[in-house]
Amino acid sequence: MERNVSSLAIVLHSQRHGQLNRRLKLLSVDFGIIDVISYGARKSLKSVKAEVFTDAQFFLYYNPVKKDYTLKDAQVVATHDDIRDDLSRTYCALFFCELLLKTNGGESAGEYQLLSTALDMLTAFPKRTDQILIQFVHRLTDLLGLRTDLTSCPICERLYGEKEILSFSSSLSCPCCSACASLDSGMLLPPGARRYLVLTSKLGYEESVLVPLSPTATQRIKNYLLRYAQIITGGTLKTLSAGILQEGADQ
Ligand SMILES: [Zn+2]
Repeated sequence: MERNVSSLAIVLHSQRHGQLNRRLKLLSVDFGIIDVISYGARKSLKSVKAEVFTDAQFFLYYNPVKKDYTLKDAQVVATHDDIRDDLSRTYCALFFCELLLKTNGGESAGEYQLLSTALDMLTAFPKRTDQILIQFVHRLTDLLGLRTDLTSCPICERLYGEKEILSFSSSLSCPCCSACASLDSGMLLPPGARRYLVLTSKLGYEESVLVPLSPTATQRIKNYLLRYAQIITGGTLKTLSAGILQEGADQ
């Protein structure tokens, strides 16, 4: 027996499914990340528009026997179409979607809110793409339970000095003191970058994106967090393989 269900959700991924249909991956508030078939999505102009980055209230059929979802309708909150006007913003948004798919394990309402805000800000503040990206990864580490407080080493518990450069523990996937670090990581976090991450941990997403950050510091922290994202996903992020997000800021 099919059931009608609905949830706020964002389309993370969309691919062809048979001749006329599409298979979507939705990050939903109520059901986590789910696969949804959109029938006739390629045929009819009247079919429900659900492109990648679309934020909407989705109305679905759920078949509890087959455990699959079918798209019935969607009430769009935001399409985020403007993001596609620019290549680096497009890559940035695709990176967010891919990172959520590959880390799939956080609390889905929090992750939905994070992505919804990130996509809204990519539309509203195109010049702050790098800060939006930095804060997305920084905030996601908190939702995934990977964030450390950056004031003391999580392994030996020693308080960091004010000017100390943090190293990285590959086994725990987090920053630590140089004595506890894995030799091979090469992940170094300078004191200025650490202060910025600690300061912005206490702020809201929008507020932290507006915190002033020099172009050099922005680039350094961004590349650190992109490498961090590669580490926590086992180096599998396709959106980072082109090198577009690692390039300098367009300011
Ligand atoms: Zn230590």
